Amino acid sequence: MAEHVEVMLSEDEIGQRIRKIGERISKDYEGKSVHLICILKGASFFMCELAKRITVPVSIDFMSLSSYGSSTESAGVVSIKKDIEEPLDGRHVIVVEDIVDTGRTLKYLKELLKDRGAADVKLCALLDKPDRRVVDVEADYIGFKIPDEFVVGYGLDYDQRYRNLPYIGAVKFD
Ligand code: 5GP
Repeated sequence: MAEHVEVMLSEDEIGQRIRKIGERISKDYEGKSVHLICILKGASFFMCELAKRITVPVSIDFMSLSSYGSSTESAGVVSIKKDIEEPLDGRHVIVVEDIVDTGRTLKYLKELLKDRGAADVKLCALLDKPDRRVVDVEADYIGFKIPDEFVVGYGLDYDQRYRNLPYIGAVKFD
């Protein structure tokens, strides 16, 4: 099936919003350091830009979880494909995610990382689709609330394509 992508959020809008989130985080964590855990692959572009806007000391780690695969519907089951490499004891963790959809991924992560000894765990997502929520979880920092549409770009893919788009776009099937 052919498809095309319509711009939903421009590169400029996204950049400005990330700057604001970075300022907020820098204020909230004044006098502390933050440990960013980037959820691969989708959140990688967001995490890099966000980390550059945070002024308190930052460390980073990466985790990869089961995701959409090649379809646009969530499998509903979360499993770890690549785990973090650094211990979490006493750290102020912020999970950096591309988008909160059903909320299953973030809920699972929050509980898992707390159990592993983090001092606290907050959630930061570039995008939020509140209409799609199945489990009760809210991100602490959100870039944009968007309608229930399948989006790509800025790290997000459709069948591994479109991650490199510098904007967020909605996929329209022709
Ligand atoms: P959740 O566990 O909240 O249902 O799923 C979150 C994950 O589903 C995201 O990290 C992302 O990988 C995938 N996802 C949800 N909505 C979209 C979307 O509109 N576009 C893309 N590319 N992935 C999505």
